[in-house]
Amino acid sequence: MVSIDELPIRSELRGLTAYGAPRIDVPVRLDTNENPYPLPDDLVDEVLALLRPVLRDLNRYPDRDALALRAALARHLEAEGGPPLDAGRVWAANGANEVVQQLLQVFGGPGRLAMGFEPSYAVHREIARSTGTAWCGAPRARDFTIAPDAARAAIVEHRPHVVLITAPNNPTGTAVSPDTVAALYDAAQSAGPALVILDEAYVEFQRTPSPLPLIEERPLLVVVRTLSKGLGLAGLRLGYLVGAPAIVDAVQLVRLPYHLSAPTQAIALALLERAAARLGNVDRITAERDRLVRELRAAGYEVAASETNFVQFGRFRDTRRAWREIVARGALVRDGGVPSWLRVSVGTPAENDVFLAAVADGLP
Ligand code: PMP
Repeated sequence: MVSIDELPIRSELRGLTAYGAPRIDVPVRLDTNENPYPLPDDLVDEVLALLRPVLRDLNRYPDRDALALRAALARHLEAEGGPPLDAGRVWAANGANEVVQQLLQVFGGPGRLAMGFEPSYAVHREIARSTGTAWCGAPRARDFTIAPDAARAAIVEHRPHVVLITAPNNPTGTAVSPDTVAALYDAAQSAGPALVILDEAYVEFQRTPSPLPLIEERPLLVVVRTLSKGLGLAGLRLGYLVGAPAIVDAVQLVRLPYHLSAPTQAIALALLERAAARLGNVDRITAERDRLVRELRAAGYEVAASETNFVQFGRFRDTRRAWREIVARGALVRDGGVPSWLRVSVGTPAENDVFLAAVADGLP
């Protein structure tokens, strides 16, 4: 058998390892920012009944344009306080990651530059690489906020074709104000034009208002959201974007035909229409997040302000050893690559108790 090193793969992929948290068998897994609450049984039964005709028709391709689902997403966004929307301004794919990939396939690519504000969601950089887009990581401030002046200066200096803003940010939990997003948009256009992608995967958990209404006046601003986190449907794989109709037209140039399966469309539609308000347990999760912040601080840790369903805590002299020790004590947390910090996802109260006991003392 040949090894991967002997395969004639693209030179920029040589020697790399695949992205992803280590899969370790630990009783309490708080490493991938999932929603800890499963779907209620009555809802599962309802969706199963709806799926019967969809499964009978699996011999046919699904709706290539996912129009009914996109209309439901538009209604969901409006109900969440967004501007008036219709299916023509919404596009869906298999997770927010795939949406960002499609956007970089269209607006990035060879000879083009994407910029993010780091530390941030490492997958953005990975997607830049896999789409042949150059990457520039501009630094965040010491408290992990985006300092508007420094960010504007970085944009003007590097003149990116795509600017990615993760708001609230992963792995730090930091919110970004609508004013900052508007300032970065203006800077990107004066240096540009450039597409500005706002990755709002964790928007349901934030106190800061979403910059979503800014899309009305800004045709190159696109907001990306997901059903994976607040709505608690990570296993479904459904993410979407909202923006100008022309952006939706543009991503269709690169989407694979029939990229969203019929069961995916049907389940997402059923859950959005029936139960958005019942899903997710967002209030329980944010209350537990605030408890984790309080108790970590009381135990002497530094904690980054969080508007998400996870908390970044530190600081450790030996982050790797601290991570191994916490895992050995039964709670899987994430080393998000930020030196001296670790990240814990908010679990159920019982899971959080295991985590808090694991960090109670003796970490390097
Ligand atoms: N964006 C951010 C900032 C994330 O942290 C994540 C999940 N870790 C995603 C996107 C991925 O979302 P999805 O599951 O919809 O692909």
